[in-house]
Amino acid sequence: MSRRVVGREPDAASSGRGAGARNASADFTVRFWGVRGTVPCPGSATMRYGGNTACVEMRCGGQQLIFDAGSGLRQLGREMAASGEPAHAHLFFTHTHMDHVIGLPFFRPAYDRRNHFQFWSGNLSGQGRRLEEVLEQLMQTPFFPVPLDIMRASIAFHDFTPGERIEPGDGVIVLTAALNHPGGAVAYRVEFGGRSACYVTDTEHVPGKPDSSVLDLIHDADLVIYDATYTDEEFERFRSWGHSTWQEGVRLCEQARARRLVAFHHDPEHDDEALDRIAAELEHRLPGSQVAREGVMIVL
Ligand SMILES: [Zn+2]
Ligand SMILES: [Zn+2]
Repeated sequence: MSRRVVGREPDAASSGRGAGARNASADFTVRFWGVRGTVPCPGSATMRYGGNTACVEMRCGGQQLIFDAGSGLRQLGREMAASGEPAHAHLFFTHTHMDHVIGLPFFRPAYDRRNHFQFWSGNLSGQGRRLEEVLEQLMQTPFFPVPLDIMRASIAFHDFTPGERIEPGDGVIVLTAALNHPGGAVAYRVEFGGRSACYVTDTEHVPGKPDSSVLDLIHDADLVIYDATYTDEEFERFRSWGHSTWQEGVRLCEQARARRLVAFHHDPEHDDEALDRIAAELEHRLPGSQVAREGVMIVL
């Protein structure tokens, strides 16, 4: 099977309409709305790769899957609202640290009663918490002026256990695995039409001991989006902070025979020039790989 990975600017991207000869019902696309970790970092030094925090959209035929609700979610919401079409989407949280939820209160489609969402979380149930309750705490005074239940869309909340398999519909399969992160986090593998893309962020590796559950999850995958907050050189200074390196991503992909890596969750201290240097080294180490950049869409 031939596979191609291309980057496109969002304005040139097709969401299935006007896609020419392409069969929209079989399209599998991955689009980056926010690629940073920790905190949004707009500014001239981060303009090219983008300053918004984690938000990735996958379209599998007619299914819309959103991963994390970082500040990048706001822009995705603007585009969804502008389409005028009612939304039926799944929103998967890796976990609820601030950089992964801060966009939710500003996600315009959540306030439209025509829309339907399924929210999924896997790291809270083991701590006796529920996603809905945690998001209620996010949206309450004095942190935010209006409560969660002001959202008029229909929202179903699901708390699952890492390792569970989720079937959103239309033949899409989502596999899950626990990650090594303070408070826990969950990795996802999406399979559709014989292709696969993994979203593995907010995890700390142990040098020399590849994480076996990540290796299992990403085995033979076409694309792996991975926590590349640090470089190997920086990593020692940040042990126990819960993050990994692009070099560990390469090692995992090589061992699991995954084809392409996307370095993701960039440290706010990594400006565009630092990311250019990583991109060049990454392309050399694992050809076809790339550093995540806001606005880029990958077609699997
Ligand atoms: Zn994070
Ligand atoms: Zn985190």
